[in-house]
Amino acid sequence: MAKYIMALDQGTTSSRCILFDRQAKIVSLAQKEFQQYYPQPGWVEHNPREIWSSQLSVATEAMAQIGAVAEDIAAIGITNQRETTIIWDRKTGEPLYNAIVWQCRRTADTIEELCARGLADKIREKTGLVPDAYFSATKIAWILDHVEGARARAEAGELAFGTVDSWLIWNLTKGRVHATDYTNASRTMLFNIHERCWDSELLDIFGIPAAMLPEVFPSGHVYGMSDPFLLNGELPIAGCAGDQQAALFGQCCFREGEVKDTFGTGCFLLMHTGDRAIRSEHGLITTIAAGLDEKPGYALEGSVFVAGAGIQWLRDEMRMIKTAAQSEEYATAVADTAGVYVVPAFTGIGAPYWNPHARGMAVGITRGCKKEHYIRAVLESIAYQSHDVIRAMEQDAGVPLRELRVDGGASANNFLMQFQADITDTVVWRPKCIETTALGAAYLAGLSVGFWQNEEELVHMEQLGRRFTPGMDRTVREERLAGWQRAVRAALAW
Ligand code: ADP
Repeated sequence: MAKYIMALDQGTTSSRCILFDRQAKIVSLAQKEFQQYYPQPGWVEHNPREIWSSQLSVATEAMAQIGAVAEDIAAIGITNQRETTIIWDRKTGEPLYNAIVWQCRRTADTIEELCARGLADKIREKTGLVPDAYFSATKIAWILDHVEGARARAEAGELAFGTVDSWLIWNLTKGRVHATDYTNASRTMLFNIHERCWDSELLDIFGIPAAMLPEVFPSGHVYGMSDPFLLNGELPIAGCAGDQQAALFGQCCFREGEVKDTFGTGCFLLMHTGDRAIRSEHGLITTIAAGLDEKPGYALEGSVFVAGAGIQWLRDEMRMIKTAAQSEEYATAVADTAGVYVVPAFTGIGAPYWNPHARGMAVGITRGCKKEHYIRAVLESIAYQSHDVIRAMEQDAGVPLRELRVDGGASANNFLMQFQADITDTVVWRPKCIETTALGAAYLAGLSVGFWQNEEELVHMEQLGRRFTPGMDRTVREERLAGWQRAVRAALAW
C-alpha cells in the first residue's frame, strides 16, 4: 500500500520535492536552485527547461534518498510560483520564449495604458485583481507580440499557454494534459473568479486567443497520470495550487475568518472568506482559495513589501547584526524601543496606505537610543505592518480574526511572534512543520485520492510548534499603535 504523497514545490529560486507520510511528516526532501536571468533592468526570466529538469531531478532524488519506488507514492501534488508565464509549441513541447517571471516589470507601460483607457474597474470587478504587470495577461501578450509569427500560430491553436503548474503537468503527462487549477487561473488576470471561466471580454482586451488556454479544474482533482517512464510507474497528479493558496490550505485554514501570514522576504497574508468573493475597500486582492469543490471558496490577499528584507538590510547594509537570528538577541536585550519607530518603506508603502512615493523613516530617536532599540524597532515594524493588513481584512470581510497562523523563515523569531500576538491581540499559532506550501499541495493530492479522508482528519494531524498568546496591556497596545500610525504618517509625508 502506498505510504507517501509527493509534493512538488516549484518556487522562484529553486525547485523542491518533499515526500510526506500518512501523519503528514516529512520523510524526504530534495532541493535544487536554478538560474535567474535578468536580460534588462527590471526584467526577470527563467528557462522553462531548467524549471522542468530541476523539478524532475529533485523528484527522483527525494525518492532515491529513502529508497522509495513509484508504488510507494499515492499521488503527486504541485504548488508553484504564481503568475509566471510560459508559452510552448503543442506539437514539440518546445518553449517559444523564456518564462516571464512574476517579478518582471517589462509590461508596466501596457498596464498604465489600460488604466488610462478606464479599464481598471472592469478588470478588478471580473478578476478580483488590481491591474498590474505581475499577473500573466500582459506577459502572454508580450510574447505573442515579440516572437515572430507567434500570434498567428496561437490563433491557429498551435501554441499552449500555462503558468508553471500547467507546464509541469504537461511535461509530467508527456503532453497529454493541458490544465491548470482555479487558484493559478485566478492570477492570470483573464479568469472570471465569479463565473469561474476564462473571460472572453478580457481575452479581447488583452488580445489573447482562447485556443491557447488550459482547461481549469478544482485544486484537488486528478489531472492525469504521470508518464510511466519518468518515475518508473504511473502516478496520479491529484493536487495543484499556487504557492500562497497552498500555504493557506497547508495551514488548515478552510473556513471564513482563518488567516495565515507567511513571514519571508515580505509578508504574504491570506484570509479565507468562505463562499464570498469580497471586494476590498483597502486595496487588497480578491482571489480563489484552494479546495476540492467545483465551486471554490475565496480569500482576501494582502502583502507587506519589506519584512525579512528589513532584517537583511540591518545585516548587510547597516551591518548591525551578523545573522538574521541575532536580531532576536538584540531585541530582547532591551525592554522596548525607547520610543523609536522604523518604517521600512524602502519601495513605498502598500496595503492599506498605498503610496509608492513614501520612503523609509526612523522617528522618535533620542540621545539614549542604542543599536538594540533600533533593531527591535525594525522587528516590531514587521508586526505593525502585518497588523495593518489584518485589520484591513477584518474590515473588508466583516469578520474578526480568530487566530493567526504563521510560517516562513522569519516566523522562527520568537520575539517577533510574541510581539505580533501582543499588538494584534490575537493568538499566534506556529505549526511544527513550517513547510506549509508543500504540505498544502500534499493535502490536496492526498484528499483527492483518498489517502486522507477529509479536512477534519488533517486538522487532527496538525502539530503545534508553539502558540503565542497575547499579553500586552490594552492601553500600552493602543499607545504603541498610535505611535506607529504617526510614524507612518511621517513616512507618507516625506
Ligand atoms: P523567502 O521565501 O521570501 O526567500 P524565507 O521564508 O526563506 O523567505 O525567509 C527568509 C527571510 O526571513 C529573510 O529575509 C531573513 O532576513 C528572515 N529571517 C530568517 N530568520 C530570521 C530570524 N530568526 N529573525 C528575523 N528574520 C529572519
